[in-house]
Amino acid sequence: MSGPEALGFAANLYRVPAEEGYFLVDAGLPWEAKRLLALLTAPPKLLFLTHHHLDHSGGARALWERFGLPVLAHPEEWPYLTGERARPPLPIPLLGRKLANLAPLLPKEALWPIEEGEEVFGWRVVALPGHTLGQVGLLKEGVLLAGDALRGKGLPPRWINEDHGLARRTVRRILDLGVRRVYLGHGGPLDREAVEALARRLGV
Ligand SMILES: [Zn+2]
Ligand SMILES: [Zn+2]
Repeated sequence: MSGPEALGFAANLYRVPAEEGYFLVDAGLPWEAKRLLALLTAPPKLLFLTHHHLDHSGGARALWERFGLPVLAHPEEWPYLTGERARPPLPIPLLGRKLANLAPLLPKEALWPIEEGEEVFGWRVVALPGHTLGQVGLLKEGVLLAGDALRGKGLPPRWINEDHGLARRTVRRILDLGVRRVYLGHGGPLDREAVEALARRLGV
């Protein structure tokens, strides 16, 4: 393994080489956890959550139970992960709130706080707010794991972004970080030119 390896689940999750082993970025939907656990022959060193959404954090509890690994997330995301606060409803009549909150909750002792500027096995934590307020990515040598800061060749739709204006400004921020390749939660990877084209389209 040299770079991040995408595992195709509802959202891409990534196996990232670290020293002799690897760590995971994001954990899929709750009902994908069984398939994910079957895939992981060696224990991951840790789980890094880009943000609290169900398709990224839904398998976290199962991973923590199996491996007892630290689950790294920005403190802004914690209340959704522990159940202190309900996730915003999905745009589905009647079932929206229920579906958004189907993830098994994490106890606080599973969680480790991470903030902008900290390091995870040589990757720098960068704040990518907007899609959620506490979304974080990982940057190393121009390669960015960006969660849902970008989606396909654009932004996630406005209704799913906690602060759409901030999500737009984060596109500029991604370019200012000097990225040359961006791995996404949905679609991708993108090269720098695609992010530049998006920034032009958004006027940021
Ligand atoms: Zn997603
Ligand atoms: Zn998301």
